[in-house]
Amino acid sequence: MKTTNLGYPRIGSNRALKKALENYWSGKATLVDLEETAKNIRTENWLLQQEKGIDIIPSNDFSLYDQVLDMCMTVNAIPKRYTALQQKNHATQDLYFAMARGIQKDGIDLTAMEMTKWFDTNYHYIVPEFYKNQAFSYCNSKIVDEYKEALALGIKTKPVLIGPVSFLLLGKEKENGFDRIDLLPNLLPTYLKIIKELSALNVEHIQFDEPFLATDLTNKDREAIRYTYQTIADKFPDLKIILANYFDCFGENLDTVLELPVHTLHLDLVRCKLQLDDILSSKKLNKNTHLSLGVIDGRNIWKNNFEDSLALIQKAIAHVGEERITIAPSCSLLHSPCDLDLETNETNLSAEVKQWLAFAKQKLEEVNTLRNFITKVNLSKTLEKVNENSAANAERKISKSIHNPKVKDRVKALTKKDDQRLNGFTQRKIIQQKALNLPLYPTTTIGSFPQTKEVRSQRANFKKGNTTPEAYHSFIEKETRETIAFQENIGLDVLVHGEFERNDMVEYFGEQLDGFAFTSFGWVQSYGSRCVKPPVIYGDVSRENPMTVFWSSFAQSITDKPVKGMLTGPVTILQWSFVRNDQPRSETCTQIALAIRDEVVDLEKAGLSIIQIDEPAIREGLPLRKEDWKTYLDWAVKAFRISASGVKDETQIHTHMCYSEFNDIIEHIAAMDADVITIECSRSQMELLDVFREFKYPNEIGPGVYDIHSPRVPDRSEMVALIEKAKEYIAPEHLWVNPDCGLKTRHWDETKKALIEMVAAAQECRQRVAVSH
Ligand code: GLN
Ligand code: ZN
Repeated sequence: MKTTNLGYPRIGSNRALKKALENYWSGKATLVDLEETAKNIRTENWLLQQEKGIDIIPSNDFSLYDQVLDMCMTVNAIPKRYTALQQKNHATQDLYFAMARGIQKDGIDLTAMEMTKWFDTNYHYIVPEFYKNQAFSYCNSKIVDEYKEALALGIKTKPVLIGPVSFLLLGKEKENGFDRIDLLPNLLPTYLKIIKELSALNVEHIQFDEPFLATDLTNKDREAIRYTYQTIADKFPDLKIILANYFDCFGENLDTVLELPVHTLHLDLVRCKLQLDDILSSKKLNKNTHLSLGVIDGRNIWKNNFEDSLALIQKAIAHVGEERITIAPSCSLLHSPCDLDLETNETNLSAEVKQWLAFAKQKLEEVNTLRNFITKVNLSKTLEKVNENSAANAERKISKSIHNPKVKDRVKALTKKDDQRLNGFTQRKIIQQKALNLPLYPTTTIGSFPQTKEVRSQRANFKKGNTTPEAYHSFIEKETRETIAFQENIGLDVLVHGEFERNDMVEYFGEQLDGFAFTSFGWVQSYGSRCVKPPVIYGDVSRENPMTVFWSSFAQSITDKPVKGMLTGPVTILQWSFVRNDQPRSETCTQIALAIRDEVVDLEKAGLSIIQIDEPAIREGLPLRKEDWKTYLDWAVKAFRISASGVKDETQIHTHMCYSEFNDIIEHIAAMDADVITIECSRSQMELLDVFREFKYPNEIGPGVYDIHSPRVPDRSEMVALIEKAKEYIAPEHLWVNPDCGLKTRHWDETKKALIEMVAAAQECRQRVAVSH
């Protein structure tokens, strides 16, 4: 019985790649420096996996930026606008990074390719661009080079490639009149060339990732899968093809998959345990097909439950025999932090919590231990590890720091009325208007104001203990005062305190809630050189003390205008954390919702008449398969409602989302029943409001009138035009005027100019109404 891995984190355990990339981009380091760092990371990863007992070690899982972009380079799916760079004798890396990040250099000005989330992860990939009748060619030898590089270390790796069907499905048609899957006959010969070259080097295994098999596919897509793997098998009968699917079951695609002439099927048994029974009992399962059992969670940081995994493995062995089983993580370890051994700061991560965790390196050990247990290798040592594992898991089940009966009881006691405001929106609107007396087209912002270098460094110094609490406090007070004064001066209607005390919209809350832990080095790649360090929700969540009341009520105390309290919503906190796996996510989300609810009530008590609960992550929590959407949306929306429903009707609840795809979830957005929703809109020229109009969205909306992702200051006339356009979709008395998102990434000078223009635009639109009456 063998062990394998699908991919290892490539940023390096101390984020060496991030630093090397950023130095290269800023001109501080040369391409040679960058490539040396990259080579060191690859070498370390390969040797580590070998040392940890992984038999089939991946290559080509490394990338300088993104594995989908690598595939574009390999098969020459390079959009035409970059050909200037191909011809001008530029280094391949210039072209590569131009595609990733855009380029403005030597008279060349090219935008980057689009980027989007990799399935339901927080990793972003570069979206391939496809054109009608597009030709492909084998034009970059990265896959083969890395195979040879490992070979030179004495390691015969398994090259990992994005399968051709998923590669096409990951992309977008950039012109009308064709379906990108129809490009397969053009693309496949290029893949065959790569395979041929690898075969010539005696490669034994190749892994093709086809994660689209975890989604709803059309018959045509399935036919493309069949055609691809039949063709490869016909041409290379001796090659061991591993077909990898992860993040969900094969579902409707199972029959197709079982009949494929591949050597090994990789199954994600963390996300979908039940499929193992279906597969083992299916008559369609090929007599020779091996199964790679993804039992170790590649998406989360918890220690595996060996007892559960061994049961699955034994079951599979009983059906197909040990020879045909491989043990693996559920998916690439790209989505895990690197090494738990680096975590030594016990204030952030207690020894108790730490013993329940496993990062990428530890997950390799788990894979190996499971195999050794079954094959009875190093028996005494293996038994010791298995016992350690069950002791840690047993302790976790009863630990007092996880299980808080008060929190569990409170969740159980929730009733229908807890997720409902007292009256419906129509009545609330009248009551709120009386209380707030806002003008037509009220103006506001989304919450944060520019986080200057000084703000960041003051916060960091305070955290490190280099600034006294008093000095830090007076600094934040000064920033808040100035921001309130600025907003008053320019005539905004609903003010915010500015969020200067917040590092991150999830971390800030997590640090003040029970049940959260933090890592020091738990970085996970988000895109390119960007990494995130999600908090760990390990226990029942509760709030001991108010978290935001101090600065919000301070801000309210220095102005007569209403100040909006500013909170992160339960779904977003959940979505951007590593979440405990010993209870349903919905349960954890409800606990967070109750903590936020208490905060909302305290803000109301402190005199805040408007409170915003941000939920930018609600859409990205959607399951991969449509049939699972409703269940998720039901509990997610309910969690939001629980957080928002503890207040009087006078108190106006806002929410904010920063994306523009509401088409398929609009009824659930409406069901959140926020009095006001602010959304991203300006880049789509208000067109996304179509769905709000069609649905007859009942509550108030603030469609962003300018794009905060750009330093450009919009003209007043542009914003007037957008407001006028929005009026075609939304009743004027339901319309708010605000930017797209928070202003923390902008500079003050742009921000000031833009907001002055925005307020003037709203005034102009009000005057137009007055004149026409
Ligand atoms: N209130 C937050 C801010 O303004 C919202 C951020 C977000 O939407 N991601 O920064
Ligand atoms: Zn936003």
